[in-house]
Amino acid sequence: MNLMNIPAFKNQQQSMIKKSLSEIYTHERAHKAKGGSLTGPIVIDWKNGVPTGGHVSISMPKLNPKNPQKTIDNAQTVINSAMAPADPSSQDYKVAAQAKSVKAQAQRVQNNKRVDYYA
Ligand SMILES: [Zn+2]
Repeated sequence: MNLMNIPAFKNQQQSMIKKSLSEIYTHERAHKAKGGSLTGPIVIDWKNGVPTGGHVSISMPKLNPKNPQKTIDNAQTVINSAMAPADPSSQDYKVAAQAKSVKAQAQRVQNNKRVDYYA
């Protein structure tokens, strides 16, 4: 066992933790910047004093048949927020996919409304 390696390893580990914590914040801040008022606070997950990840909650819009445009706008905000970080997670892709499907439903409602209006 080479004792000289221990402090070096510690420093390296510490700088890795710092980097990963700042990476987590960068990622979550990107979600918040695009998600605006639809997002909750940044939450960092810790395990044994080491940051393991983070998340922000976002309000997934429900289809509002009376105001599909608002649903479309909110769904687009969720999509932009989910895809904002440079390194979207699989959960981010899932959220974006869910928002895309809500948006598509709202667009169908809006298109039907237009047909009704002109019929
Ligand atoms: Zn994310």
